[in-house]
Amino acid sequence: MTATAAPTTAPFRFFDVQVARVRRLCPSMIRITFTGDRLDELASGGRDQRFKLFLPQPHQTAPVFEDLSEAWYTAWRAQDPAERPVMRSYTIREQRHDPAEFDVDFALHGADGPAAAGGGPASRWALAARPGDRLTVLAPAVADNGGVDFRPPPGTDWILLTGDETALPAIAGILSWLSPGTTAKVWLETGHPDDRQPLPTFADAEVTWLVRDPAAARRGEPVLDALRAADLPAGTPYAWIAGEAGTVKAVRRHLVGERGFDRRAVKFTGYWRRGASEEDLLAELTAAAGGK
Ligand SMILES: Cc1cc2nc3c(=O)[nH]c(=O)nc-3n(C[C@H](O)[C@H](O)[C@H](O)COP(=O)(O)OP(=O)(O)OC[C@H]3O[C@@H](n4cnc5c(N)ncnc54)[C@H](O)[C@@H]3O)c2cc1C
Repeated sequence: MTATAAPTTAPFRFFDVQVARVRRLCPSMIRITFTGDRLDELASGGRDQRFKLFLPQPHQTAPVFEDLSEAWYTAWRAQDPAERPVMRSYTIREQRHDPAEFDVDFALHGADGPAAAGGGPASRWALAARPGDRLTVLAPAVADNGGVDFRPPPGTDWILLTGDETALPAIAGILSWLSPGTTAKVWLETGHPDDRQPLPTFADAEVTWLVRDPAAARRGEPVLDALRAADLPAGTPYAWIAGEAGTVKAVRRHLVGERGFDRRAVKFTGYWRRGASEEDLLAELTAAAGGK
C-alpha cells in the first residue's frame, strides 16, 4: 500500500496557482478553486487524479523553493523544515478550461470537530484561504499519467468504492467517469449528515452514506459493518478503497479474505493515517527506501 507515493516530476510539472474562489460545501468540506498562469497546460486524467500541493509556511506569503529543476526533491528535503513549503497530497476534483481552473475539495479535520481550526497545516490553510492566496502545485502535464490509480481491467463486471471525506473527491471523479450502465456500489463515511453531496454519474450506482458517531472509538467501523452486511452483485468485481490507512487495510482484508476478491482487483491507498502527519508518512517511506 502506498500511503503517499514518493513524488515524481515527469510527466508532472510545477504550476504557481492562486485561490480564485472558496466555497464551504458542507460541514466537513471546503472547495477551493485555483487559477494561474499556464494552467491550460495542466492535464488532469480525471478519476482519482492525485497531485502534490505546496503550502507556504505561516510567515510566508508564497511557497519558497530553492530549486525547481528535476533535482527539486533533493533540494526540498535539504531545505530548513521551518522554511521549505509544506507538501501534501490531494485530488483534482474537477478541471475546467476557458477559464483554466481546477477545484480541490479539502476535508477539514481537527480535535474539536470539522469547523475547528485544529487539524494539520493543509486543513488549517483551507479553512483560512482567501482569493489571491498563493500556492505551488506539482500536477500532471499529460492526461495519461501515473497519478491515476482507478484502472479497472477488461472483464470487470461491477465496481466497489469505499472511502471517507478525503476520498470523496476521488470517488466523485470516478463516478463521473464511469460508462453508462456500469454497476457500482459505493460506501462513503462522513462526519456529519449534511456532508452528503450530489454525485452525478451515468453509472448504475448505489451510494450509501454512513455518518460516523463522534463518540465511536474507531473510525472506519461504519464502512466495515455496512460491507459485512451487504449483498454484493455476482460477476467479476474491481474495488477501489481509500481513506484512513487502518480502515483501508481492514476493508481490503475483508474483500480479499472473506469475500474472495482477487487481490489484483483491489486497489487500496491509505490517504492518511491516524496519529501521523504526511511528513511522518514520507519519513517512513524514505527510511524503507534506504534513505533515498
Ligand atoms: C493520493 C491522495 C489524495 C488525497 N486527496 C485528498 C483530497 O482530495 N481531499 C482531502 O481532504 N484529502 C485528501 N488526501 C488526504 C490528505 O492528504 C491528508 O488528510 C493530509 O494528512 C492532510 O494534511 P494536513 O496538513 O491537514 O494534516 P497532517 O499534518 O498531514 O496531519 C495532522 C494530523 O491530522 C490527522 N489527519 C490527517 N487527515 C485527517 C482527516 N481527514 N481526518 C482526521 N484526522 C486527520 C493525522 O493523522 C495527524 O495526526 C489525499 C491523500 C492522498 C495520499
